[in-house]
Amino acid sequence: MNAISHQIQLLRRPTGLPTLEDFALRDVPLPALQEGEVQVANQWLSVDPYMRGRMSEAKSYVPPFPLNGPLDGGAIGTVQASRHPDFKVGDKVSSMLGWRDAFVANAAQLTRLPDTTLPPQRFLGALGMPGMTAWAGLHKVAHLKAGETLLVSAASGAVGTMAVQLAKQAGARVIGSTGSADKVAYLKTLGADAVINYRETPDLDAELARLAPEGIHVYFENVGGAMLDAALNHLVVHGRIVLCGLIEQYNSNGQASGPRNLSQVIRKRILMQGLLVSDHWQHYGAFLAEAMPAFEAGTLQAEETVSEGLASMPQAFIGLFQGRNTGKMLVRLP
Ligand code: NDP
Repeated sequence: MNAISHQIQLLRRPTGLPTLEDFALRDVPLPALQEGEVQVANQWLSVDPYMRGRMSEAKSYVPPFPLNGPLDGGAIGTVQASRHPDFKVGDKVSSMLGWRDAFVANAAQLTRLPDTTLPPQRFLGALGMPGMTAWAGLHKVAHLKAGETLLVSAASGAVGTMAVQLAKQAGARVIGSTGSADKVAYLKTLGADAVINYRETPDLDAELARLAPEGIHVYFENVGGAMLDAALNHLVVHGRIVLCGLIEQYNSNGQASGPRNLSQVIRKRILMQGLLVSDHWQHYGAFLAEAMPAFEAGTLQAEETVSEGLASMPQAFIGLFQGRNTGKMLVRLP
């Protein structure tokens, strides 16, 4: 059983794209287990773009990470010792105590994974927070209808791959955008009707005109920048935008880009709504009831990009901003 927690700490607040020097791997002794507490060894760590916001001091919907303290994030682990009746040794649990290999926590900070043969790490990706984000964005914010055309940016990522598949299952026509030829091919295997490689498409406007001559009903926005400008030009009257993420800006040092054509929102009475998945967590059970059987039956698929070992976590995190992942970015611990 671990006596020490190896953990990644934030040494300084990154400027622009984070570097490996912004992080340190440190050893912290684990405290003795008290009544009501559980000791967990993590096996899977979640790597998420929103963590970049918490590395800066800017006020947000989640507090900044402390310097020289443990970072946190989604994790899946196994109970190693328990002084709480609801958890026993060997139970698989999820927590927000990631970026470390082991921890002692109050049982209230743990959630037991549902009983399923699906891989446990799925609950950090397609069946976890990113999958729930896609589901809530499509069904609780955009109210996507069969026959509508949906555009999804960062379509090959954790949220995007679920948005593409769930939208196809809802009967929509789906256009994705992504950053490589391999990812374009992958998205087509998921059922996307058309995919734009934005790195190879100098005129996004013309490409959307070609791919959606009747217009786009819903834009699921994960990126911002040029794609948002182009989408605004091609949304239909009363089109909807789910503003889920703006990853193009996360390392921008305050120099946020556009959109330059917001007048389209007025002209076409477009409804743009921000999405925070935490607002929809009361529906997580409904999402799981729909998505778990679909994964078990093979009608939904999930891809993962796995990095090995705790020390690889900072590089995996930086890789999110370089398009290194297809599907969910994860770190596996021995
Ligand atoms: P992804 O798995 O999609 O990983 C990020 C991807 O974004 C990369 O693989 C890359 O793919 C793309 N990307 C990175 N930088 C750029 C850039 N400058 N321009 C265009 N594309 C870029 O991450 P998630 O699925 O976890 O998150 C997707 C989005 O959803 C993020 O913006 C995130 O912040 C947001 N989010 C919001 C939530 C909410 O509650 N509002 C909850 C969860 C996520 P590519 O090859 O296509 O470039």
